[in-house]
Amino acid sequence: MKQFDVLIVGGGASGLAAAIEAARQDKRLRVGVIERLDRVGKKILATGNGRCNLSNLHASAQDYNAPEFVEKVFQKKSPTDNMDFFRSLGLLTVADSEGRVYPYSGTATSVLDVLRFEAQRLGVEIVCSQRAESVTKNKNYFTVNGVYSSTVLMLSCGGKSSPSQGSDGSGYELLRQLGLTVTELKPSLVQIKTQQDFVKSLKGLRSNARITLDRGGTDIAESRGEILFTDYGISGIAAMEISRDAEKDCVLKIDFLPDYSEKEVLDMLYLNAKRNRDSSAEYLLTGVLHSRIAQALLKGTLSDFNIQCSRLKHDQMQNIAKELKCKKIKVTGKNGFDQSQVTAGGAELSQFTGMLEAKNCPGLFVTGELLDVDGRCGGFNLAFAWSSGRLAGESAAQKILKRAKL
Ligand SMILES: Cc1cc2nc3c(=O)[nH]c(=O)nc-3n(C[C@H](O)[C@H](O)[C@H](O)COP(=O)(O)OP(=O)(O)OC[C@H]3O[C@@H](n4cnc5c(N)ncnc54)[C@H](O)[C@@H]3O)c2cc1C
Repeated sequence: MKQFDVLIVGGGASGLAAAIEAARQDKRLRVGVIERLDRVGKKILATGNGRCNLSNLHASAQDYNAPEFVEKVFQKKSPTDNMDFFRSLGLLTVADSEGRVYPYSGTATSVLDVLRFEAQRLGVEIVCSQRAESVTKNKNYFTVNGVYSSTVLMLSCGGKSSPSQGSDGSGYELLRQLGLTVTELKPSLVQIKTQQDFVKSLKGLRSNARITLDRGGTDIAESRGEILFTDYGISGIAAMEISRDAEKDCVLKIDFLPDYSEKEVLDMLYLNAKRNRDSSAEYLLTGVLHSRIAQALLKGTLSDFNIQCSRLKHDQMQNIAKELKCKKIKVTGKNGFDQSQVTAGGAELSQFTGMLEAKNCPGLFVTGELLDVDGRCGGFNLAFAWSSGRLAGESAAQKILKRAKL
């Protein structure tokens, strides 16, 4: 039996941060990481399109589904502290105008390298190609797969999203084996599927818009930013951000001109119609929207697309203004876990202390996406992974040091 003081299951973002923070508490601690893939941090390399958007300067607890819980974590390890942590590892970072933080080198490899090298320097034992499948707990220690034992166990297995990068959902089964409850799991930060007639013709086009998700006449989520039309629906940051709540019974409302009121849009249409009075309605939105989006909207509104601008009636102008401000498309679903960036749902949060230890299973800590915490797009999910991993790593080590009076 291989013995550790702190054993971390999962060498992803939160697991590596936890291992470093635990090992930094006292070099006598035996800290180990078991990772199911043949190397650690594979997902980190895929984040931010290979650039790793590792945090956001504006991150606050309100950017997550469970603000009260996240606030308790951020009070102890804030996203700002995480930047000091990365500086201590030698990583230079830079932020864009939206506050999204990236490694200065422009490559995610730098983030993974500094984590790996620090873990190595501190003597963390990393065992790859080891999938944790069973876990038991005696009075004093945990046993994983019948071959690893540890005083403290940390589950940092991630969620179910993007399983090819390691997080295959097996962490939920380990939680259940230790008697913990898992909430309903849903893909989040994922592309939304819609009725195809409008979107398909626009495949590949991007637009800035405000999009709102309507369920039964009530707006349940809203986002503003870039959307990307695909042949099956809508992608892009704004669409991903509201995907958490997107279900079959929803309607997506797209406001293509969020900076203008409907009245201002109507006035603008009249001016354009006057300017193009002898041209066909096709030219009504020239200079306003991408021509293909304009055509698709007008085709859906006017029965005779070739009608002269000067012959457009007031109710037709009003309908066009309405479509520009609120194009409705039925949601038919969303892509699955394999396409999603984050899993909504996870280990139920009331089961944990503010130090991320399970109340009914002392010595068990859980971090990152395996918890029922998910955030917005833009560096927020990694920010929580670092904060929760660092907090759990430090508290796990302190627990052992206190107990052993080291
Ligand atoms: C394509 C993509 C792009 C993303 N881009 C961003 C971004 O730019 N910014 C951002 O903030 N967030 C981004 N995210 C989300 C972010 O990567 C995750 O929220 C974050 O990595 C979660 O950290 P974690 O430690 O909880 O889990 P992970 O980083 O997923 O790590 C879990 C680790 O545990 C291992 N593991 C799982 N089960 C077992 C087991 N049973 N035994 C042993 N090992 C196991 C896995 O192989 C994996 O290495 C992105 C996600 C994806 C999929």
